[in-house]
Amino acid sequence: MDIGFIGLGNMGAPMAANLVAAGHRVTGHDLSDVTVDGVAVAGSAGEAARGRDVVMTMLPDGAALRAVADDILPVMASGCGFVDCSTVDVASARAVAEQAMAAGMLPVDAPVSGGVGGATGGTLTFMAGGSEAAFALAEPLFAIMGQKAVHCGDSGAGQAAKICNNMILGATMIVTCEAFALADGLGLDRQKMFDVVSTSSGYSWTMNAYCPAPGVGPSSPSDNDYTPGFAAELMLKDLRLAQQAAGDAGADTPLGAAAMSLYADFVESGDGLGRDFSAMLQRFEKRRRSP
Ligand code: NAD
Repeated sequence: MDIGFIGLGNMGAPMAANLVAAGHRVTGHDLSDVTVDGVAVAGSAGEAARGRDVVMTMLPDGAALRAVADDILPVMASGCGFVDCSTVDVASARAVAEQAMAAGMLPVDAPVSGGVGGATGGTLTFMAGGSEAAFALAEPLFAIMGQKAVHCGDSGAGQAAKICNNMILGATMIVTCEAFALADGLGLDRQKMFDVVSTSSGYSWTMNAYCPAPGVGPSSPSDNDYTPGFAAELMLKDLRLAQQAAGDAGADTPLGAAAMSLYADFVESGDGLGRDFSAMLQRFEKRRRSP
């Protein structure tokens, strides 16, 4: 396929490289000067998008997505696939999809799970929203860049799935860290707690696969001085998107709200910025319960 790729950052660059390695022709554009081996450089988003079979975007947020959509939709070929893999608010995803459909394109919102490692290794999970035809067009590309793609429903359903997943992830990480701090206070050995919880009903991905306690469980960012991994500020972004969506949908999400304010505090007033989201454990190590 002839593919335009806009947003060649930490995630976009390796994803575009994997499309090239699979034999596709890729023309890329980024606001900053980025070059990716095998990806032709376009001077503008419009140039990257004009006349392609599929245009992919991997951008920081909904505002960037809306701005790029305004630039590229007028020059894209009718019937072109428009696959946005950024994590953005559900409202922006739906608005851009409507705009794209009105212009005769096939839009898919397809945020990913798996981080930079998954993008590089081609093992991402894609959660997609859009029509059957749009998903069918994008699916072969998902198969190159990832190991699984789930068609979640109509436009916006991919973003909805992503923020539900990450709300669970954020809240679960916090309670896992709380439990380690409680174990410390009770004189319970961390390894023993892991041995019990990881095989009992309190088990979770954060405990079993991404344990926040250094030296316990399989290798994770906690064993590398909390170098991300998945940065705390990205977790905060996703928890904010979840609360924004919960507000719009009238959903009651008290633990999601508490997780968002704890990560906001950790990133903005604590020492979480630039560290893995599992470094939250140190917040509980430092702080004791108020009397
Ligand atoms: P990044 O900041 O490294 O990359 C974004 C790129 O978009 C930057 O290079 C920036 O210059 C470019 N950009 C911004 N506005 C643009 C515009 N108008 N035109 C062209 N280029 C523009 O971010 P990232 O880590 O690659 O993440 C991208 C998206 O993927 C985000 O929405 C993020 O939430 C999501 N995500 C990231 C991870 C991760 O671990 N990094 C994991 C899952 C999902």
